[in-house]
Amino acid sequence: MEKSGKGAVLVAGGAGYIGAHTAQALHAQGYLPVVFDNLSSGAREAVRWGPLAHGDVRDAAALADAMAKHDVQAVIHFASLIEVGRSVARPDLFWEHNVGGTATLLQAMRARGVRRLVFSSSAAVYGQGGRGPLESIAEHAAKDPASPYGDTKLACERLIAAHGRAFGLTAVALRYFNAAGADPSGLIGEAHAPETHLIPLAIAAALGDGKALTVFGDDFDTPDGTCLRDYVHVNDLAAAHVAALEAPLAEGAFEAVNIGAGRAYSVFEVIAEAARALGRPVPHAVGARREGDPPSLLADVARARAVLGWTPKVSGLDEIVRDAVRWESAPAYGRPGRKAAMAALSASA
Ligand code: UDP
Repeated sequence: MEKSGKGAVLVAGGAGYIGAHTAQALHAQGYLPVVFDNLSSGAREAVRWGPLAHGDVRDAAALADAMAKHDVQAVIHFASLIEVGRSVARPDLFWEHNVGGTATLLQAMRARGVRRLVFSSSAAVYGQGGRGPLESIAEHAAKDPASPYGDTKLACERLIAAHGRAFGLTAVALRYFNAAGADPSGLIGEAHAPETHLIPLAIAAALGDGKALTVFGDDFDTPDGTCLRDYVHVNDLAAAHVAALEAPLAEGAFEAVNIGAGRAYSVFEVIAEAARALGRPVPHAVGARREGDPPSLLADVARARAVLGWTPKVSGLDEIVRDAVRWESAPAYGRPGRKAAMAALSASA
């Protein structure tokens, strides 16, 4: 059994984007991150700071094995389906993987007496109505998810809270706003397939890897007409998970905490920052709105500071985009067409 100062933490979904950055942060803080992942969307290359236990969160026996083999003391749970559009087409899969997986994980933790959990939640749990542009969202805001994806995250939170009250599990749900950026080392970064997120798509458009970017609507009730989002650097997010693991909470407590930078930028502002960082234009055209996109999402992060002692450190838009550009210019995995696009770019320069 591997030993490390602060014990083993099962990182379910630790081969994915935020999970891999969190595994790195755990390792840096003296924990052993045991990545439990079915590699359906995660990358083997992203597992660098501890062992990989190959398995699915819906598989109780595989969870029990991994927890026993590595003497797991706590769990951070990222493993879930995340594409909002697909959740509309296949809500059945989202409930089965996200809510079913969480239920199985909770049972496995209870069976082994593991009593500490940090859960990947989302700003998608909040309702859309009644907020002005640039009005921040606090944790007590109305919950009325706009998608089955958001429904499953809210259902998981409620399941975890009730389970904790009944069986003495202490848990923190982190409601992410827009995760972005990459570790400056270039070893790990974002590699969703298909990629749907604004910052990697803007950079890809500028690098000539694929299509021009479509801006999803410029007729919202916002200063420049495009949507406002709160982008938070993935390494700040990773640090929030470690803080959530260590927060001094009562046994059986459940806390839900927003994680964002506390500043919002429009789609046009992100495009301008990407063009500045790359030193070349981001080809783009305005298209139709994307279904379910709220005009503005801005985190009130006061509770993150109060409960977790966490504040964002590297989440300036310039820092986020700079690190995303570094990763996207030479991704260590994923992005199958990128090498050819970069070669063509340097040949034409
Ligand atoms: N967006 C866009 N074009 C794209 C992808 C995203 O205009 O190709 C916009 C989207 O409408 C939203 C913002 O960029 O306002 C961030 O979208 P993303 O998918 O990155 O994150 P989300 O806010 O949906 O979680």
